[in-house]
This record gives sequence, structure tokens and C-alpha cells, in this order.
Amino acid sequence: MDLIAARLNKISPSQTIAISTKARALKAAGRDIISLSAGEPDFDTPRNIKDAAIRAIEGGETKYTDVAGTPALRQAVAERFRIDSGLDYTSDEIIVSSGGKQVIYNAMVATLNPGDEAIIPAPCWVSYPDIVALADGVPVIVPCAAENGFKLRAADLEAAITPRTKWFFLNSPCNPTGTAYSAEDLRPICDVLLRHPDVWIFTDDIYDKLVYDGFVPATIVQVEPKLRDRTVTMNGVSKAYAMTGWRIGFAGAPAVLTKAMNKLQSQSTSGSSSISQAAALEALSGPQDFIADMVQAYVARRDLVVGMLNQARGLTCHRPEGAFYVFPSMEGCLGKVSAGGTEIVDDEAFVTALLEEEGVAAVHGAAFMFAGHFRVSYATDTESLREACMRIQRFCAGLR
Ligand code: PLP
Repeated sequence: MDLIAARLNKISPSQTIAISTKARALKAAGRDIISLSAGEPDFDTPRNIKDAAIRAIEGGETKYTDVAGTPALRQAVAERFRIDSGLDYTSDEIIVSSGGKQVIYNAMVATLNPGDEAIIPAPCWVSYPDIVALADGVPVIVPCAAENGFKLRAADLEAAITPRTKWFFLNSPCNPTGTAYSAEDLRPICDVLLRHPDVWIFTDDIYDKLVYDGFVPATIVQVEPKLRDRTVTMNGVSKAYAMTGWRIGFAGAPAVLTKAMNKLQSQSTSGSSSISQAAALEALSGPQDFIADMVQAYVARRDLVVGMLNQARGLTCHRPEGAFYVFPSMEGCLGKVSAGGTEIVDDEAFVTALLEEEGVAAVHGAAFMFAGHFRVSYATDTESLREACMRIQRFCAGLR
């Protein structure tokens, strides 16, 4: 009898984590490596948030909490949804989990039966297809062309819906493209969804505070309140408050679903860390000006990276509305041979040769279900970004 369950063969380890691990190993071996592969802010968690966690420890908030999250945190989440997007959720419609990732996992495991389909616009975050597959569902990938700013067209969504469709995922701003949807962009998508009352919607808004140039993000329920009864609005503290290690994510959803997710969570994690919840409470209800400072830094970095990548021979890089990623096309490099002798047969060969020859770690597009591109995270300091982009330019100039 095999030790490892068959279900584990349906998924692969996160490729972004694999590349970051390889970059770290090269660095440990003494190589000069700049990693643009991580999906986390380089900023430290703000002082007031850390202090709240310390106070929680000292004050004895060290016990189990309600499985769905402390009443105070759920209320603060509801309040943030109200202030930020005009959404109205009661406390029993809010669930707090160990990261947004666990919210997604809970929702899928709680609802998918074998063969149920989940529509995922691509490029997409690496974990959606794997989590769906782990929950016995079938990921249905819908490509979104670069020419359309990587945005999903309503007609493509309509064409992907079948009688087996249970979920539709939307991630705005998007990892890996940074593409964000305005209310106007979402309208035709909502119109399609209104015509298909059996489809549930999972909107992952985890980057919605990181938007630039005055862009106003929107979320599904805000644009079409009639979809509220079948939408999960997910968010978290990882990206907006530089709190990836604290592992707090949350969602607003109809009580029928939060109840099911709560049941699952009660037999898996028993809920999130009490200390992290106290920190997240301060993040959501304390001063928010830290976010504007971060946004200002990110926008300058985005402009630097987009400008420099567009000067690299064979690359084309769009200027996204949000998050901290760009997703340039490397199709102009295909078929060439690098200075180190690697034939660039695809995006994976490109990032592998780039790491080995120039010490720059990025993630190939195929990991995000979209070949011919690669993802650069600009959540790192300006000097490293400038040096990394210079090396990418040199690498591309060396292709023959
Ligand atoms: N959703 C997207 C699109 C992400 O990029 C990430 C993290 O990289 C997450 C969700 C999960 O974040 P966390 O589990 O840290 O809340």
C-alpha cells in the first residue's frame, strides 16, 4: 500500500516557492543573487501592529478563540468591508482563517464534489488550480490575452460556463499581472453571472489597497448587489499591512457558506492564532496611513521596472494598475541562445538561464498558466531592482 495518498498526486509544490528556494541555495553557495520571485512586501510590519501583538501576549490573549475568529476581529473586518467597499456583512457572515489561502481551501473543500468545475481566468495565482484539484474539482482555465490588458472578456466567461460550473474565481488586482478591474470592467462580467444563478463567485481582493495612478478598484458585490448571495469576498492582511508571516486572511460570504467553512476549520486548524488576530485587529482598525506610504514606494518601483524592462531586447512589459508584480512577455527571445549557451525554448528556459547566468530569480509564466511571459516582483528595494533590471537587459542583449 502506498504511503502517499493519490490525491496528493493531483497537485504540484508551489513553483514560486521552488524558485525562491533555489535562489536562496545559490546565495548560500556564495553567488550574488537578486530575487524578484517572492510574493511578499519587503516592508516590515508597522510598529503599532507589532505592539498590539505584544500586548496580547502580555495580557493573556493566549488561548483558543472562536473558530471563526474573535468577535472583535470579525467586527473590524465587517467594518473595513463597509468603509472600503460599502459592503454590508454581519459577524456571522465573516470568517477569519490562517491566511487568504486557507479561506480559499476551506471554500473549495466545503463545496466541491468530484467533477465540479471552477473557472479560473489566466494568468492566475499558482495556488487556485491546485487547491481546486485537491478538493476533487476541475480547474477550467480561461486565457486572458495580454492585448486586452490580461482582462477577462465577458464572452469568454460565458463560453466557459457549463452545467458543472460551481465556482468562478476573480483576482483583482491580479497576481501575477497586476491587472485590476474597475466597476466599469466588472459590469459585463456581472451581467454574465446574473444569467447563471448556479455559479458561485470567489473574489480574491487581497491586493486591493495596492493600486496606483488614482485607479479605483471595485469588487463584485459592490457592482452588483444581486450577486451577494453567492459571492465570497476574500481579503487579508498579508499584502496591505506587510503581514505575510502572521497568517491572517478573511472573507465575507453568505452564512450558509461561512457556517460550512467554520465546520471544516473546527476540525482542521481550530482557527487562527489568537496573537495574530490581535495584531490584525490593530491593522484593520488602527491608523491606515502606512498604506499610502507603501503605495508611493511601489508606484515608483513599478515605473522604474516597467521602463527598464521595456528597454530590454525581446521583452514587452505592460504598466499594470496594482499589486507589486509585472508580467512581461519574453516571446521576442524565443528560439535564441543565451551567452551561456542555453537555448531559450520557452519561458522556463529563459528564467533558468537568467538565474544561472545573471543571478536574477524570476518566475516563468507557465507557473501561472500563461507561457511566453515571466513574473517580476518589485516588492524589493530600488537599488536591487535597478541592478536586476540592468542584468536582465544584459542577458537579453546577449541572446543570439
Ligand atoms: N491570493 C493571492 C492572489 C495571492 O497572491 C496570495 C499570496 O501570495 C494569497 C491569496 C494568499 O495570501 P495569504 O495566505 O498570505 O493571506
